[in-house]
Amino acid sequence: MNVPMQSDLEKKINILNNMIKESNKIVFFGGAGVSTASGIPDFRSKDGLYNQHNVQFEKYQPEYLLDRHCLYCNPKVFYEFYRQKMDTRDIKPNITHYKLAEMEKFGKLKAIVTQNIDGLHQKAGSKNVIEIHGTTQKCYCTKCKKEFPYDYIFNSTDAIPKCECGGMIRPDVTLYSEPLPVKASNDAYNAIATADMLIVAGTSLAVYPAAGMIDYFTGKYLVLINKGNVDKAIYTDLFIDGDMTEVFKLITV
Ligand SMILES: [Zn+2]
Repeated sequence: MNVPMQSDLEKKINILNNMIKESNKIVFFGGAGVSTASGIPDFRSKDGLYNQHNVQFEKYQPEYLLDRHCLYCNPKVFYEFYRQKMDTRDIKPNITHYKLAEMEKFGKLKAIVTQNIDGLHQKAGSKNVIEIHGTTQKCYCTKCKKEFPYDYIFNSTDAIPKCECGGMIRPDVTLYSEPLPVKASNDAYNAIATADMLIVAGTSLAVYPAAGMIDYFTGKYLVLINKGNVDKAIYTDLFIDGDMTEVFKLITV
């Protein structure tokens, strides 16, 4: 009888599925690579947001356009860039988001810690999503703190969206030069510290303090799923160097 040969990827997915079967407090720690299959470019790769040629913004350092200083000192430029590049209203979750939502529903997954600001995990049905870099799905007045509908900034025709109190309305996104939101950070550290399995995926682990959070993991299995190596030296029980959607398609809950 012929037994079909298993590819290297299939072997690794089998190991991953066994780890998931054994675990009940899984935490997923994800970055830009989770959303690229939905059509959202990441920041740093060859085709990423910062390497797209755009004459209009050429004179600015890419990081400056998403920096607190740009928002407060040069708001017209900030909102022009933000409206062009951060509008995810029509973007849909992909298989990775849906599979994670399913894992939560079946009681396997306790939390998603995400560096993404696109709200796609919630769109896919996930409940416990810890957004350590905030979200484009909320905005508020910088003066009176009133909350506005998530799409207010994109719908507004004013160059700088303003509240009736006169304050500027800003997205609830953690910009460069801003600290991480306290509650989300604490929730992320707690979730990671009490997990029995940590899946780190789609992140180059280049951005701190987020990348440092995974050092708090003391559970049994640390799995890394990423295209290529990551910047941070970490010990992994399993490293799958591959396309995230290919991997998540084969995960059985
Ligand atoms: Zn206000």
